[in-house]
Amino acid sequence: MLSLRNIKKSYVTGDYTQVALNEVNLSFRKGEFVAILGPSGSGKTTCLNIIGGLDKYDSGDLIINGKSTKEFKDSDWDAYRNNSIGFIFQSYNLIGHLNILDNVEMGMTLSGVSASEKHNKAKEVLEIVGLKEHMHKKPNQLSGGQMQRVAIARALANDPDIILADEPTGALDTKTSVQIMEIIKDIAKDKLVIMVTHNPELAEEYADRIIEFRDGSVISDSKPINELDKSDNYEIKKTSMSFFTALKLSAMNIRTKKWRTFLTAFASSIGIIGIALILSLSNGFDKQIDIFESDTLSGFPIMISQQAAEVDMNEMMEHSKEMRKEMLGKEEEDNTKYPEDKFIYPYNSKENTFIHNNKITQEYLDYIEKIDSNSLSGVSYTRLVNMNLLKTDGSVATPINSSDLRLSSYPISLESDKAGYLESSYDVLAGSYPETMNDLVLVVDEYNNVDTEILKVLGIDSSKEEISFDDIIGYEIKAIQNDDYYKKVGSFYTLAGNPKYMSELYNSEKAISLKIKGILRLKEDVKIPVLSEGIAYSDELSKFFIDNAKNSEVVKDQEAADYNVFTGEGFTSETQGRSSENTKENILASIGGTEIPYMITLYPKDFESKEAVVSYLDKWNEDKSKEDVILYNDMAKTFATLSGSIMDAITMVLIAFAAISLVVSLIMVGIITYISVLERTKEIGVLRSLGARKKDITRVFNAETFIVGSCSGILGIIIAYLLTFPTNAILYKVTDLEGVAVLNPVHAIILIIISVLLTMLGGSIPAKMASKKDPVEALRTE
Ligand code: ADP
Ligand code: MG
Repeated sequence: MLSLRNIKKSYVTGDYTQVALNEVNLSFRKGEFVAILGPSGSGKTTCLNIIGGLDKYDSGDLIINGKSTKEFKDSDWDAYRNNSIGFIFQSYNLIGHLNILDNVEMGMTLSGVSASEKHNKAKEVLEIVGLKEHMHKKPNQLSGGQMQRVAIARALANDPDIILADEPTGALDTKTSVQIMEIIKDIAKDKLVIMVTHNPELAEEYADRIIEFRDGSVISDSKPINELDKSDNYEIKKTSMSFFTALKLSAMNIRTKKWRTFLTAFASSIGIIGIALILSLSNGFDKQIDIFESDTLSGFPIMISQQAAEVDMNEMMEHSKEMRKEMLGKEEEDNTKYPEDKFIYPYNSKENTFIHNNKITQEYLDYIEKIDSNSLSGVSYTRLVNMNLLKTDGSVATPINSSDLRLSSYPISLESDKAGYLESSYDVLAGSYPETMNDLVLVVDEYNNVDTEILKVLGIDSSKEEISFDDIIGYEIKAIQNDDYYKKVGSFYTLAGNPKYMSELYNSEKAISLKIKGILRLKEDVKIPVLSEGIAYSDELSKFFIDNAKNSEVVKDQEAADYNVFTGEGFTSETQGRSSENTKENILASIGGTEIPYMITLYPKDFESKEAVVSYLDKWNEDKSKEDVILYNDMAKTFATLSGSIMDAITMVLIAFAAISLVVSLIMVGIITYISVLERTKEIGVLRSLGARKKDITRVFNAETFIVGSCSGILGIIIAYLLTFPTNAILYKVTDLEGVAVLNPVHAIILIIISVLLTMLGGSIPAKMASKKDPVEALRTE
């Protein structure tokens, strides 16, 4: 059933070639018990390994059941070992971390025998060798003889036709040797047993046939066969190890070195911990930013100014050449930055600045008024009108320069209650919120500071360190109508006369009395002030003033004249829409000749209503030509994108750092796996002798790194999760933000997967190395 034909095998070490088998010709019968004798180094083991398909012959042929093995592929050899061969080694070669039962079952596991069948068979063979009661023990809990019996059981388990035993009693005492020989003899009844032994007496006593080797050749054979055997049906079942088996095998192995595995997993989880923490922080910050946005950024207004967008092309060039090209409508010659040449270059700034002038019309104002009042908490109008304000020190009245007063009109609510917006954002420190159009308010900053400039303009003594609220509340200034304030001299207008006349005006009936009704300060939790420190008044007041001014002489004359009626100057022709420019529109606006405000500021209630407002504003532009669109400026958007991208950048940098530690752990896992491969070399040999394919060996180590990777991933996530608690506690102390670090479960799962993939990557090279190990050499290692 088995024949060796002119088998030659030599080993080359360096320059030296050792012929281990030299033209060996042997045939074996079924059911024969053959003993091979010979001095050490005569090639017995080599012969056995070649018969068992563990080693490859150099030339000749091995005929199995009449079939040549010359064309055998690796998988054929693996299957052959698994199906047809049972190995028994001198040093037992049990897998230490598996119990007896698992050791015996391993060959069947590899050939995919079902669990129950495997169990039954394993118990059956353990019964034969008399070890059934010990099946749950580990190999190191058994004596040498018992271990060899386990090895015999393992060799028998898959019901092979051939048992190959290499000095099975070499390590045992005489008494135990006899027991083992008895068992082997029993087996030999229906199997071909080929046993290498040192002991001629044992051979004489038990074997049917004795073959002697010397220097790689057969020198005697007690029962040679010469006839060639006929070809039988030869079919072998291919082996394969499932990933689950590999996993179990590695899990058992890992159990024997829990601490090392734990420490490895922990060390390699540090990268995961880092990334998970960073992600949970950035996650949390994103959420905080979202909350901040809807809470606070919605406080950032949408502004619609007559002069909407001023784009400095030079600045823009820094960002994008294409954009600049598009705006200029032509290709731009390349300008060198920091030129070396000794010239200056004239450059027209106006040509390089693009301004879109919003043509705000009454129609547009009406459109704005129709914004859903549920979306807006307030609207404020900025007008350029100078309301001809006068103050008095008790005896003499003098004009107030309104820009020095930092006058602003406070936002009005579109809903009925007038002070609505102010009430939601400002605390009253003294007095009350404004009630009528003649009520002014003084806005102070969070320290109750008021700029001395403002106080000076108002005529309040600012030399004192502190000023009582009482000195402020009720403080009165007056607005004078145009016709009283300006006098026409010739064809020009001028201020109406001397201080005495001013005092008269101040005290006259026609003067509009404006009183400071309250002192307001931004509420602590409101982060964005809508009013600058200074005096705020109602839009109603300016509207009232403008209503009167419309019919004043100075406005009428200015409307008719194409020069400045105060200075006689002509107007700036090339206008850029700035409020300070000397244009007819600006002059008219300053004397109350226009009802159209210079700027409209919208305060959306929250983030959603902001969207609604913005889309409402966009709708206006839908069918407008390029010049007629009205652009708005969304302050919050600019801010939000900015903060978002900064966060992203920081996150990226931190993740990059943490990723480095991941790479370190990757290398570490590679090293650990490599060590594990070295440690498990013998196991690799055993598995190969049982028919495991190279692939299966790779799988075993991949399974090990898989376990380490999952452990480190899960461990990392757990630690990162636990760390979010102290992190949040610290952040709460430092920033007052609650629950910033939030671990997103999706991130957690992705990180575990990454950890598994990376560790498997790190272990893949050692795993491949393991599979390439020569099984004979692997078995020889200690
Ligand atoms: P035996 O089992 O009869 O003691 P072996 O079959 O193990 O002998 O060895 C036969 C010869 O081949 C010996 O001289 C041995 O040194 C040599 N040999 C066996 N394996 C190797 C190897 N892997 N590399 C080099 N020489 C080897
Ligand atoms: Mg030997």
